[in-house]
Amino acid sequence: MNPDPELLKEAWQHRKEHPQSIYDRSGVWRFRDLLHFYPDNKDLSQILVSMDGEEGRTKPFMLSKVAEYVGLKSNNFYLQFEGDNPTGSFKDNGMAAGFTHAKMVNANKVACASTGNTSSSMAAFAANEGDINAYVFMGSGRISIGKLAQTLEYGANAIQILGDFDDAMKTVQAVSKEMGIYLLNSLNAYRLEGQKTIIYRLLEGLKWEVPDLVVCPGGNLGNTSAFGKALTEPYKWGFIDKLPRIVVVNANGANTLDRIYNEEKIRWSYTDDLWNDKIKEFYTKLDEENFKAHTIASAIEIGKPINLPKALRALYETKGMVVSVSDQEILDAKAIVGRNGFGCEPASAASVAGIKKLTEEGIIDKDTFAVGILTGHQLKDPKATIEYHKSSANKFANPPIEVPNDIDKILEALRK
Ligand SMILES: *Cc1c(COP(=O)(O)O)cnc(C)c1O
Repeated sequence: MNPDPELLKEAWQHRKEHPQSIYDRSGVWRFRDLLHFYPDNKDLSQILVSMDGEEGRTKPFMLSKVAEYVGLKSNNFYLQFEGDNPTGSFKDNGMAAGFTHAKMVNANKVACASTGNTSSSMAAFAANEGDINAYVFMGSGRISIGKLAQTLEYGANAIQILGDFDDAMKTVQAVSKEMGIYLLNSLNAYRLEGQKTIIYRLLEGLKWEVPDLVVCPGGNLGNTSAFGKALTEPYKWGFIDKLPRIVVVNANGANTLDRIYNEEKIRWSYTDDLWNDKIKEFYTKLDEENFKAHTIASAIEIGKPINLPKALRALYETKGMVVSVSDQEILDAKAIVGRNGFGCEPASAASVAGIKKLTEEGIIDKDTFAVGILTGHQLKDPKATIEYHKSSANKFANPPIEVPNDIDKILEALRK
């Protein structure tokens, strides 16, 4: 493939402004030229899967209060709100592509292990297609209420196992193999192809001016891997003239990548496989420690990220960085995102908390041009939000004012 950058940029813009079909409207399929795993000599509607063109219709926004909070100049700082997808998370980008491939191989059953957003997305696409059965494997008790509600409502078969996400991930792979089910976790390479469009929209939204940093939360590291590809390919083809550094933000309680990258200093290599042996050794150590991931940011509560090798490659290619943040830092950052009239779920706010950490530690300065990805919608996890605001111990809490139903008492309370 040797695409012509200027012609393609024009074509993408034209599809957006004058859509001829739902595939031109779709923020994923608008960029179909760079996701070339389907035979394009056929009628697109026979092949491509889409939620009526609604997936991936996102772009980067400037949020001045968040910029101030993280310590960057507001015209140098953007957040891309992937919560604006049909099922409320970035997963719809990948699911459109993964489902397309599932249909190409005539799958009639699909499965995933999920902390909630993959399952919501997969269940919705399955419901929309109508002739595909969805099986969702979840750990017990950790899935947030909004995501569980979606998964059940869209009619997926929900299998709740005793264990955490890492257990569910292992189980779904074994069951899918046994039953011939098409697996739609982010180890699915086609899903990652779809997630590349998050970066295309980001660059398009910045008029192809390349930021210094692209920051995302790290869970199973599907985005990290997809972003690596989405940046290095256009760089090679001349769409952009420099590579931003990818910054992955872990939660302190689910910091496997941080430990591997910053403590063990394991790096990807093209020439040998030593890094792979070192990861195996490290995972044995995690097992010996009986390590279990634990964070309020349930979407990134993952101990053994399935895309670790691909993510290490993305970090290598883009000279990336990895940082970890506490649950408190995540929730404070989330509250500030809310103060801009936006909102996100806890895992997403790790992007913001991570950038703040980098400015505070002097690793980047106020002139750095950074874009953070807000991965999921605020209403995915209302419990975390309400608990934060009810406790006045939290820095940005906004607890309800409790007063008797009495005008004088209310006026008195409001004048305080
Ligand atoms: C899935 C998910 C993540 C983690 O993304 P990975 O690609 O698995 O690293 C982060 N935030 C939200 C809201 C998610 O749904």
